[in-house]
Amino acid sequence: MKNIYDMTIEQLEDYFLGIGEKKFKALQLYSWLYEKRINSFDEITDIKKVVVDKLKEDFTLDKLKVLKVERDELVNKYLFELHDGALVESVLMRHDYGTSICVSSQVGCNMGCKFCESGRLKKVRDLQAYEIVLQLLEVEKDIKERITHVVIMGIGEPFDNYLNVTNFIKIINHPKGLSIGSRHITVSTSGIVPKILEFADFPYQVNLAVSLHAPNDKLRDEIMPINKAYKIKDIMDALKIYYKKTNRRITFEYIMLDGINDKEENAQELCRLLKGLNCYVNLIPYNETNNIQYKRSKNDNILKFYDIIKKNNIGVTIRREFGSNISAACGQLRSKREEL
Ligand code: SAH
Ligand code: SF4
Repeated sequence: MKNIYDMTIEQLEDYFLGIGEKKFKALQLYSWLYEKRINSFDEITDIKKVVVDKLKEDFTLDKLKVLKVERDELVNKYLFELHDGALVESVLMRHDYGTSICVSSQVGCNMGCKFCESGRLKKVRDLQAYEIVLQLLEVEKDIKERITHVVIMGIGEPFDNYLNVTNFIKIINHPKGLSIGSRHITVSTSGIVPKILEFADFPYQVNLAVSLHAPNDKLRDEIMPINKAYKIKDIMDALKIYYKKTNRRITFEYIMLDGINDKEENAQELCRLLKGLNCYVNLIPYNETNNIQYKRSKNDNILKFYDIIKKNNIGVTIRREFGSNISAACGQLRSKREEL
């Protein structure tokens, strides 16, 4: 049996047509799932009983198990258990512009970035679309308000699970689904070049962020093994095509690791690399973890780095560090749990 939250509107329309029903039933059902938030198919009143019975035969409405919630003033962190016992996490953040959630896309991650907790835990499997959708539904249920922004930056490499992630985007973006505006959705990738090219043709105005973290291949090879497969130049070439097709500004994430990639010359090299591209750089002070030896850059160095980028007329921000008290960096809650 399939989980109903896995279905895009097109898939549901096909399903209804396939059982001899009108396709607008898909919209009716979406409204029960995402507006009225039913817990049982029996709550549906405007679809006839034989059809509801058929739905019950074909689909489950199963939710995720919330194992643990850590709460802070501006951040909640959720640990979920999936049907097979696998663990994933989501982080909710409150901003002045709204409420964002960072969702996981895989159980573990195979990219093996040296600084990342998620990368220490090898990929067990991809998440199905419904398992990502349900992270949102469970968190909205907990906070009793609507989430306005979604970033796919939790555990996993979203472009290593392309189909489920793009289905997830279709479901949450749909006006009768969770109705999250596409400009409020961001996918972050470590730089899987063929998927960046495929994403350029994905017909939704979703933001793309690329975890660059180093301005040259030598340094990037050291901290991100995926760079052996896709070099910085390949990524840049793919992004130029992406930009030509979508006209959307690209975000580069740059984690600040003390003594590794935070020197002034690194900033200058980064500016040369990004020159002429419509982009913006998000500097991420490293969130230290117990299991990894890297240290967060000193504040002075972060500010110097920031100034150099700014002087080069490239948009730049320093990511606000919330959540470090409650192990909000990617993969931390899960790995803490697995040590118990
Ligand atoms: N796999 C995708 C998305 C998930 S990781 C990617 O790599 O882009 C999301 C972001 O969190 C990445 O930019 C990653 O480099 C960053 N990250 C991982 N561990 C971190 C840590 N300990 N502190 C701060 N950022 C971290
Ligand atoms: Fe995977 Fe992203 Fe972590 Fe790298 S930073 S190991 S790609 S989750």
